[in-house]
Amino acid sequence: MNFELDEIVIEERCRQSALAARVISRAPAAVPVNFTADARDAVRPAIGAADPFGAGKRRMVVMHRRAPFLMACPAGSSEFACCGYLVLVLASNCPMDCSYCFLQEYLADNPGFQVYANYADAFAELERTLRRTPGRALRVGTGELADSLAFDRMTGISRELVEFCALREGLLLELKTKTDEIDNLLTVDSRGRTLVSWTLSPPQVFSSSEKRTASPAARLAAARRVLDAGYKVGFHLDPVIAYPGAERDYLALLDDLFDTISPARIAFISLGGLRMTPTLRTAARRRHPHDPLLCGEEVLAPDGRYRTFTPLRASLLRALERRIAAASPAIMRYLCMEPPSIHRRVLGHAPAPAAALGAALAER
Ligand code: SF4
Repeated sequence: MNFELDEIVIEERCRQSALAARVISRAPAAVPVNFTADARDAVRPAIGAADPFGAGKRRMVVMHRRAPFLMACPAGSSEFACCGYLVLVLASNCPMDCSYCFLQEYLADNPGFQVYANYADAFAELERTLRRTPGRALRVGTGELADSLAFDRMTGISRELVEFCALREGLLLELKTKTDEIDNLLTVDSRGRTLVSWTLSPPQVFSSSEKRTASPAARLAAARRVLDAGYKVGFHLDPVIAYPGAERDYLALLDDLFDTISPARIAFISLGGLRMTPTLRTAARRRHPHDPLLCGEEVLAPDGRYRTFTPLRASLLRALERRIAAASPAIMRYLCMEPPSIHRRVLGHAPAPAAALGAALAER
């Protein structure tokens, strides 16, 4: 991967941290490293920038996280089927640039690409949570407010996290990515307690909407390598975007997946249609005016998000679900941020309660 950085900013209190040392030693020589007393100013949108969100992606800020590291998934809601995922926030924002990314809205006020030097506190927080919930299977992921592996060659956090989780029973770590940055993972024994998941899109969506991500073929090849190294793997077909020929392209993508990875070895595949709040849609169309996939005829759904017309969305998701079930009925399938009505139409049953689905996924 070849991510671009304009600048690295290090908060003074983190100057002596192991993370700052790694980032400074591995940064490309041309990228300036600056220090600041309080990095909260450095993560705000750059005044006068034509694209403040895009500029934030190219400014890596190594800083102290003041808020808790563990939080409920922001996608969770009583309106939707939910998988009960816990988010471990080790970074915020992402050097890639998908035109549909919800971070364009969620992080509009603090787009700097933050990495937290006090991530050992996150491990301690996780330890306390595990102690409070003995016997409960927990699924924790780092890929909600950032890509789990982007820049891992500079930060090296994945190794420590995988090693930490390898020793904790009842915990499943999910690293979610669109990169092929897996070299650090190949040097650690996860003891089956880390699952690496890839968001997959057909080449057509990759080309038009997923700037600086690894190609679909590179993602599949990386998945094959981590599987062979003892990790579990899962996949997200989310967002599924409806466009002319989409069903054919997504089914071909599933064929490529099953040719690369035996269906019996896939922990789960999640599905979800494209959805955008009006604010996100406006920001996305302004930042990516040439992406034809952002110009579909979505309708405003009862949850206030633009979504593909329900019969079309249900039919597309159902076709994909059928292909997955035909490959192996044992592959766990679930829907993300879809209402129960779509759940019934696509999967043929009502969604499981969040805790039950989360526990089932943690035990895969
Ligand atoms: S890879 Fe994920 S986090 Fe990064 S821009 Fe794309 S959707 Fe957003």
